[in-house]
Amino acid sequence: MATTAFDRVGGDKSVVVARVNGELKDLSTIVSDSDVVEPVTVDTPEGLAVLRHSTAHVLAQAVQDTFPDAKLGIGPPIKDGFYYDFSVDTPFTPEDLEVLEKRMVAIIKAGQRFSRRVVDEAEAVAELAGEPFKLRLIGSEGGADVMEVGGAELTIYDNVDAKTGERCWGDLCRGPHVPDTRYIPQNAIKLMRTAAAYWLGDQKNEQLQRVYGTAWPSKEDLKAYLTFLEEAERRDHRRLGAELDLFSFPDEIGSGLAVFHPKGGVIRRVMEDYSRKRHDEAGYEFVNTPHITKGALFEKSQHLNWYSEGMYPPMQLDTEYDAEGNVRKQGADYYLKPMNCPMHNLIFDARGRSYRELPLRLFEFGTVYRYEKSGVVQGLTRARGFTQDDAHIYCTKEQMPTELDGLLTFVLDLLRDYGLNDFYLELSTRDPEKSVGSDEIWAEATETLRIAAEKQGLELVLDEGGAAFYGPKISVQAKDAIGRTWQMSTIQVDFNLPELFDLQYQASDGTRQRPVMIHRALFGSIERFFAVLLEHYAGAFPPWLAPVQVIGIPITEAHNEYMYDVAGKLRAAGIRVEVDSSDDRMQKKIRTAQKSKVPYMLIAGDEDAQAGAVSFRYRDGTQKNGVPIDEAIAEIVASVDSRIQV
Ligand SMILES: [Zn+2]
Ligand SMILES: [Zn+2]
Repeated sequence: MATTAFDRVGGDKSVVVARVNGELKDLSTIVSDSDVVEPVTVDTPEGLAVLRHSTAHVLAQAVQDTFPDAKLGIGPPIKDGFYYDFSVDTPFTPEDLEVLEKRMVAIIKAGQRFSRRVVDEAEAVAELAGEPFKLRLIGSEGGADVMEVGGAELTIYDNVDAKTGERCWGDLCRGPHVPDTRYIPQNAIKLMRTAAAYWLGDQKNEQLQRVYGTAWPSKEDLKAYLTFLEEAERRDHRRLGAELDLFSFPDEIGSGLAVFHPKGGVIRRVMEDYSRKRHDEAGYEFVNTPHITKGALFEKSQHLNWYSEGMYPPMQLDTEYDAEGNVRKQGADYYLKPMNCPMHNLIFDARGRSYRELPLRLFEFGTVYRYEKSGVVQGLTRARGFTQDDAHIYCTKEQMPTELDGLLTFVLDLLRDYGLNDFYLELSTRDPEKSVGSDEIWAEATETLRIAAEKQGLELVLDEGGAAFYGPKISVQAKDAIGRTWQMSTIQVDFNLPELFDLQYQASDGTRQRPVMIHRALFGSIERFFAVLLEHYAGAFPPWLAPVQVIGIPITEAHNEYMYDVAGKLRAAGIRVEVDSSDDRMQKKIRTAQKSKVPYMLIAGDEDAQAGAVSFRYRDGTQKNGVPIDEAIAEIVASVDSRIQV
């Protein structure tokens, strides 16, 4: 009898597929003695994707069992789960999902085998006559990326009943899949939600109904994932932004364009002020540039060549017409700027530069506008208008190592001050197919970045060939309080723009030399960093960033005046303080203050007033009574100055 991959590496339920000579294959694949066969377990990314995709088949079968008229779209695995698209007359309801989930469990319990069958195109077309979308895939719509038909041959996977050997269902797919449905843990799957989706993601195509689901190796994994989702939902910056009255996206202004309310404005100002102070200390020069420019600038920088899709369309200005409406004087196209770099280059080039001025570090909180597609706009993390903490450093080739080294230390120190502590670095290296600049300068810059990165003692991940065409890059990836990774700062070497702008400086020997240019944004954008911090802290900012640092709570109206007095002293010490002099009872005032996530509540009644003291109530609910006012102020000021979380 022929040997299968299962015979070689299967048996343990955690082995879901095999790698045969490097390729992922079903465990039922026939192998020869010379084939290299390795087990792929469900706890690897590939194995997990196979589990999830196999679960998508079970979903599709459950849908067609329950809604026989449903037509099949595609069903790939995705991050944290899978989806399957269906053409149905009415969208699925939450109740439908419950029914489907039960049906899926029944299919899983039946232990149906995933049985692979190679078909030629005519057979596939005949068999799938009732599936218009699958037919279109056979007709090569969707391209080779689609999981259903991407293989070297067309295959149909039949679901075969374990006991009777009867075919229960089948789907056009290139595979591979788990051997049978019992490999899918029935208590570790869940249908999450439905959404409308266009066929193959193209807005011009038919609208289908997408069902999202998830599947995990164990019940515990599923539970941990659902807890994580709940936690992420609780921290969602869009939700917290509304609850804490920090910012909003008014319809009247347009998608992806935020307004910051007073409390959000305070946080933003503190973030900016501290960043400005640090940049000042680190030898940056502050510049300012306009929001719009003539197109000629972006022609020179070539942004209009390769970035025009990300830019707002131009405004034609200054064109003059005669009485007949003929153009008398041609004006120019003006664009909202998507990047600050070209303008900083103009500042560098405004006069001759000497080597003595280098490194020249130009810094700006520069507001840029990018025309993100409406589908990808998301809160403050993917907006259409945002402000970068942008700087461009011009230095000599010899200065590059010291500059990059110092820069990386500066970035990480700054991020730590804002409360992020868990980082890794990613180094994007040259794609030889598309890059400008000589081999030597790439090698040198990449090696310099690598050495600088390694000095930090952080994990360094290589993004081989992932650099932009104009130079290597380091990005700082930061983990937040619930373990999500955010790409924060980028440090990008650029060999291209100095050429395009013909930037020069006079070297010590009198010759004209080209400077190296480094782009760097530490927050990325203020808006995005604001969102990351808001989610990281779940709205409970450390005292130095909190919009209101202290809420004074008089126990009764009789203590209002005393509390205002205390507040005045705090304000004089630079503390942001409010007094809740409403008619609410004390417990209600405490609850209101807790909801606003204020770091400190100071409570005062008769005893405190007589003693010239206050009572602290901290975020964790603990209380400290009878603290003399001066001590209370000193404690709060110290916590603000140290930028610690309380
Ligand atoms: Zn499949
Ligand atoms: Zn730049």
